[in-house]
Amino acid sequence: MSVRNPSAHVDSWYSRTAAPAPEHPRLQGRETADVVVLGAGLTGLSAALELAQAGLKVIVLEARRVGWGASGRNGGQVIFGYGCDQSKIAALVGIEDSRRLFDWSLEGVRLVRERIAAHGIDAHWRDGHAHAAIKPRHIDELRAWQRDLAENYGYDVAWWDRERLQAELPSPRYIGALYDPQSGHLHPLNYTLGLARAAVAAGVRIFENTEVTRLDRGAKPMLRCAQGEVQADFVVLAGNALVHGIAPELDSRIMPVGTYVGATEPLGETRARDLIRNGMAVADINWALDYFRLSADHRLLFGGRASYSTLPPPDLPGTMTRRMTRVFPQLRGVKFEDVWGGYVDISLNRAPHWGRLGDNVYFAQGFSGHGVAATGLAGRVIAEAIRGQAGRLDAYAKIPHRPFPGGRALRTPLLVAAMAWFKLRDALW
Ligand SMILES: Cc1cc2nc3c(=O)[nH]c(=O)nc-3n(C[C@H](O)[C@H](O)[C@H](O)COP(=O)(O)OP(=O)(O)OC[C@H]3O[C@@H](n4cnc5c(N)ncnc54)[C@H](O)[C@@H]3O)c2cc1C
Repeated sequence: MSVRNPSAHVDSWYSRTAAPAPEHPRLQGRETADVVVLGAGLTGLSAALELAQAGLKVIVLEARRVGWGASGRNGGQVIFGYGCDQSKIAALVGIEDSRRLFDWSLEGVRLVRERIAAHGIDAHWRDGHAHAAIKPRHIDELRAWQRDLAENYGYDVAWWDRERLQAELPSPRYIGALYDPQSGHLHPLNYTLGLARAAVAAGVRIFENTEVTRLDRGAKPMLRCAQGEVQADFVVLAGNALVHGIAPELDSRIMPVGTYVGATEPLGETRARDLIRNGMAVADINWALDYFRLSADHRLLFGGRASYSTLPPPDLPGTMTRRMTRVFPQLRGVKFEDVWGGYVDISLNRAPHWGRLGDNVYFAQGFSGHGVAATGLAGRVIAEAIRGQAGRLDAYAKIPHRPFPGGRALRTPLLVAAMAWFKLRDALW
């Protein structure tokens, strides 16, 4: 094993500051395993780690590098819940199952903290997260959400009015927030690389630069690649937004949406601390949201600007700078040193799409931009099911998911039209 070449990951503040990590070989020839996993992101690695810890022989096949996908480039915000409101999940599966799913989402957040501690991962963890209101309608929505969480789920988050929020976040843009001390933020690439290290220590074999081109289903399913193949008792598909052509019934139920993150030049400790005094992560609740936090080396990491077409947005650094100075006018003149993007895998209803195809092919997708904590849980729940405890996976599999209308060719233009409406709504009221 040689030391990882950071340029192999998308160029970002994360890849520039990643802890050294080993490269893994390319698959050559035929292998067998108890479980073969497609994708070395947080979902695939979480499943692999849990299965190897239970004594199973596990192989992970990764098209590029460990953490190359969303797991190594995201906003790093570790938040309870899922990509849609919990009330949406209650409407889809009933309040009893919704309660169980909500409790498990809290387990997902705890699992991140536990794994950082158990495996000594240098993940730059910081406590605290705020969902912020920009306009009066948002205050009503956040207060209703707070009541729903307390009354139906027994989960308390604090309401901060403008004055309380300003004490921590002196931005003219926000007029209140829900604050959760249990959520937090981290360096996602370091966390993913740390999880891979833990998986390898538990006996998992990872092959990088190994793109899966075909899934053969059957009693002994097989993942095929250009120069090799792995046959196993079970397959886990954890390819997220980037995988297609392996299982068409999964492709049609998610849609890749581009979203972008930038890292400013270093601000210095005092100036950075004056932006977010308690060090929490923040996301507003607009449809086209802004989300941001401070880095360990005192930069602002600022995310936003979703792209619902497949074209990269024009003048991305300029747009990101305008969005950032709308939140922090005091940063006028500050430049982004890095801006990078990635794809999130949205499902039509934004609820998680986890389950099984036949008896022995498992999958988790549809994290809908809300996956740093939920992916770890998905991997654990799939590992439980493979080991014969399918109760939790079955609860997720009850969530109904429809294909995107228009199929592969038309889903993007239709979504662009729908999103234009939501953006107009953000702007108008
Ligand atoms: C810019 C951005 C910001 C985000 N911010 C946040 C945030 O702040 N908080 C939050 O909770 N969520 C956030 N998310 C979402 C979150 O990052 C994802 O939900 C999560 O990382 C998904 O993990 P995963 O393991 O399922 O997928 P990925 O990390 O995408 O991993 C899938 C892997 O599968 C590999 N693969 C694909 N096809 C094949 C194939 N054919 N053969 C072999 N390998 C293959 C890919 O190379 C990739 O490495 C963000 C996402 C993005 C893109």
